[in-house]
Parts: sequence; C-alpha cells; structure tokens
Amino acid sequence: GREVRLVARPVGEPTPSDFELAEAPVREPGEGEVLVRNEWMSVDPYMRGRMSEVESYVPPFRLGEPMEGGAIGTVIASRSAAVPEGTTVQHELGWREYATLSAGRVRPIDTSLAPAAAYLGVLGLTGLTAYVGLTKIAPVEEGDVVFVSGAAGAVGSVAGQIARRLGAVRVVGSAGGPEKTAKVVQDFGFDTAIDYRKGDLERQLEDAAPGGIDVYFDNVGGDHLRAALAAMRTHGRIALCGAISQYNATEPVPGPDNLLLAVGKRLTLRGFIVSDHMKLTGEYVQRASGWLREGSLRAEETVVEGIDNAVDAFLGLLRGTNVGKMIVRL
Ligand code: NDP
Repeated sequence: GREVRLVARPVGEPTPSDFELAEAPVREPGEGEVLVRNEWMSVDPYMRGRMSEVESYVPPFRLGEPMEGGAIGTVIASRSAAVPEGTTVQHELGWREYATLSAGRVRPIDTSLAPAAAYLGVLGLTGLTAYVGLTKIAPVEEGDVVFVSGAAGAVGSVAGQIARRLGAVRVVGSAGGPEKTAKVVQDFGFDTAIDYRKGDLERQLEDAAPGGIDVYFDNVGGDHLRAALAAMRTHGRIALCGAISQYNATEPVPGPDNLLLAVGKRLTLRGFIVSDHMKLTGEYVQRASGWLREGSLRAEETVVEGIDNAVDAFLGLLRGTNVGKMIVRL
C-alpha cells in the first residue's frame, strides 16, 4: 500500500518536495489488531503545525515516516472479536492506504445516520469544533450578532448555521473572494459576508454589523481578530479557534495592537482545543445528524481523488481551494 511521508520540515508555505509518496508493506494484524483499508482521509490546517519541530498540543510528525490524521475505512482482516471484518471504522492513521492497528484505537461509525465521509467533517471534529465554540467557549445567546471568519470552510460553514440555531439575529461571515462570499450567504445561510481580500476589514465589518458584534468565532487571527475587537460590543465573547493567516509565518507574529479594547468592553477571549471536549460527541452527532436529515444544516465537502493527490489537497486547503471540508478519497 502507498503512504505519504514527511521528508523535510517546511519553512513558510509547504511545497510538494517536503513530502514523498512511498510504497510500504501491508502488515497482517496481530492478536487484538485489525487491518483497515482506508477509503477516506482528512487534511486539516493543524497538520501544518505538526510539520514543524515545535512543541504543541500534538507532537511533531517524524521525518521519513508516514504522517497521521483522521481516516475512515473498512476492516478487511481482524483478530479482535469486538471489531469484526466488514466494520466501517474511524481512526487516526490517515495518509496511507492500509492501516494495521489495535482494535482499541478504531471507532466503528454508524453509516445509517450519514455517509461515512461526513464523520470527517460535519459529524466529525470540524463540526464538533463549531458546536463547542458556540455552546461552551463563546456561548451564543438569543438576539446576538455573530461574526465567523473562515466562513466558507469546514468549521466556519457549520459555525454560522449553528449560531443561527442558537438564537443569533444576525450572522456575518468572511471568506476569500466573491464566489465564496456568495456561497456563504446562499448555501450556508449567513445574512451577509465580507470578502477579506478587498481589505479594510474594520470598515467592512462595521457596514455588515452596524451595531457591533456580540460573538466572534475566530478561525483566522491577525487582521480579522483586530477588526473584530474593534467591532465588539460590551461583554462580547471571542472563541479563539485558530489563526490560519499565521500558520506559514516564519517569525513570531505580534498580537493585535488594539487588545486594550478588551478591557473597556469587558470582553472574554477564550482559546480551546476540540479534543478536550470529546465527551460532547454523542450529543452533537445525535443533534447534527437530525439537522442534516431534516435539511436545516447544510454541509459540503471538497473531495480530492487518490492518495497521489493528498499532498495537493493539503496545500490547496492552506490556500483556500476548498469549500466546506477538504477530504481525500483513497
Ligand atoms: P477550512 O476548511 O476553513 O480551510 C482553511 C481555509 O482557510 C481555506 O479554505 C481558506 O479560505 C482560509 N485561509 C487560508 N489562508 C487564509 C488567510 N491568510 N486569511 C484568511 N483565511 C485564510 O479549515 P478548517 O475548517 O478545518 O479549520 C478552520 C480553522 O479552525 C483553522 O484555523 C483551524 O486550525 C481551526 N481548527 C481548530 C480546532 C480546535 O480544536 N481549536 C479544530 C479544527 C480546526 P479562504 O478561501 O476563505 O481564504
């Protein structure tokens, strides 16, 4: 089976030569293990962090070894009674066509609720991230005005829709380019969307939410966070989810120069990592699969075909070639 290895630590924007597609032997499962034929794998912005040699909440990838990440596949050989052959499972050994691992490290998924690929996106970590951010970290209250950056992406597109469901009266998004901003409004139900490539975010945000915003869901950081701080109303809440505008930075990035506004406005800024909130998975999957069935939650995927294109999918994700969740069909 083929696997994708990291062979050089990227400096700035990663390039194809930082990766290698290699053939590796498929290992038969030992006692208590299963062999999975991977059918889907996830590419995610946090993987950029794991490519650098820095301590973080996840350890760096090792050079010369296959990378890891969310994957879904079918058990094709099993030496565990708990996970028989034929089970569709989710696990963390992506970036490869075959994975042999302990049965305790795979989770069977219920494909009667939604197609398998949904468990890497709207019913998986990115959907849960949106839900946690707006229910636990920066809770949306009835009547709030909510701003979501990265609004055409996997987390952002779901966050905007969840904000509305939680009682937001106005939901503003931001994304790169006119196609994406149109999509955010037409398909993901935001009231309006800002094209950040046009610049002057502060002004654009003021026009989009003239009375200010109560909740900001930050996927982007940098200028977006600065503009949001300027637009926040008193007692506003900011969920610090990510800062994709800075992931390829080669030097430390200064914080927003208007942070002092948080004092006078009595703001709450709170960072979070979705993996600390996995106990909400059951509740979330139950609710979100219901919303998907009744058509009140719309999720999209951008599907790239084949492990030989997985690196391109990841590089494209960082540049914004995706709408909704970027996934690879293996
Ligand atoms: P997305 O589907 O949103 O894909 C990334 C998007 O980032 C691209 O589509 C692109 O959209 C946008 N982007 C790239 N560069 C820039 C830039 N310079 N300024 C503004 N936007 C940019 O990815 P995810 O939904 O998976 O992740 C979104 C964010 O959430 C990331 O910051 C990620 O790290 C974070 N995250 C955090 C988690 C947590 O536990 N805290 C869990 C999961 C994700 P465009 O074309 O609009 O520029």
